[in-house]
Amino acid sequence: MKRVINYSAGPAGIPIEVLEQARDEMLDWNGTGCSVMEVSHRGKEYDALHMETMDLFRELAGMGKDWNVLFTTGGASTQFLMLPMNYLGAGKEADYAVTGNWSKAAVKEAKRYGKISFPANMELEGERFVAIPKQGDLVLNPKAEYFHYTSNNTVEGTEWHYTPDAKGKPLVCDMSSDIFSRPAEFGKHSMIYAGAQKNLGPSGVTVVAIRDDFLAKAHDDLPTMMSYKVFKDKFSMHNTPPCFSIYILNLVLRWLKKNGGLAAMGKVNEAKQKLLYGAIDGSKGFYTGTADKDSRSWMNVDFKLPTAELDDKFVKDAKAAGIVQTKGYRSMGGIRLSAYNAVSLKDVQTTVQFMQDFQQKNS
Ligand SMILES: *Cc1c(COP(=O)(O)O)cnc(C)c1O
Repeated sequence: MKRVINYSAGPAGIPIEVLEQARDEMLDWNGTGCSVMEVSHRGKEYDALHMETMDLFRELAGMGKDWNVLFTTGGASTQFLMLPMNYLGAGKEADYAVTGNWSKAAVKEAKRYGKISFPANMELEGERFVAIPKQGDLVLNPKAEYFHYTSNNTVEGTEWHYTPDAKGKPLVCDMSSDIFSRPAEFGKHSMIYAGAQKNLGPSGVTVVAIRDDFLAKAHDDLPTMMSYKVFKDKFSMHNTPPCFSIYILNLVLRWLKKNGGLAAMGKVNEAKQKLLYGAIDGSKGFYTGTADKDSRSWMNVDFKLPTAELDDKFVKDAKAAGIVQTKGYRSMGGIRLSAYNAVSLKDVQTTVQFMQDFQQKNS
């Protein structure tokens, strides 16, 4: 068996210990004589796992009992419509900070349900999204029901390095690509959500955490599967939840806890990004980072080589060296290294060595 160093932007790598445990328990989970995929979601074994997963999430995030953890399906993309469906409607408005491809996608859905205003629209600031706005540049709409932003821009490789102050408005964040990569100020938010497949596990489950006071303001008269209140009241089991994805999520959360939680993860991720950007900045222009330095993402490291041919050769040679999925997003070109939690510091050290060798051979 050969495991590679995997920089997939999503679905992303999963810690090997988690995969090994899932393998070992595949045929007989928890003494049931079945896999976790083959037991009733109404049974006591699955129920215990489900509730424990919600508690573990709250515990790692430092969220109190006033936070509700929901497990939804349809990816983060479905949250793009569920959020405005629950809070907007005729005459309602919301603020959306547009800092990349995914925040644009969120706006596209929100516009169907209300009037959207833009505290910052970084696309207008230049041709591409290379920077995160500063607090002083945010122009807030006093009539907004909430303020939505994307903490990490997966495609463009930029990340908010502060929590925006929404001046008392409920703060909602799409944390899909940097959730639990380091400590975050969850307490300043009213709701956060993340598709699991970057930092939390496999695709198929989306974690939504929503505080009681914000949940109380959600509309009641909604299609059942679109209602946050139904998800809360039924503990995300109105219909069959994505049991296997939640099981892997559970194992990933246990792995995070065992390894010191978000503070320890943050230290590792800080060291990883320092090495990667250090290799870029120390390359005398062979590698060029695409994001503004103060907005650089710790998770998605985007850069370019001197020519598109060298970008292609880099991807090819990296693959031959066991370093895979390094190609940049299709609209971006270049290279993207998505160094999520399952990518170890050692993986990054190996990669930096590869980058230096590649530069030597090709410049
Ligand atoms: C990947 C991603 C999404 C889309 O997630 P799906 O689960 O595929 O819908 C949304 N937002 C961000 C920031 C992402 O990285």
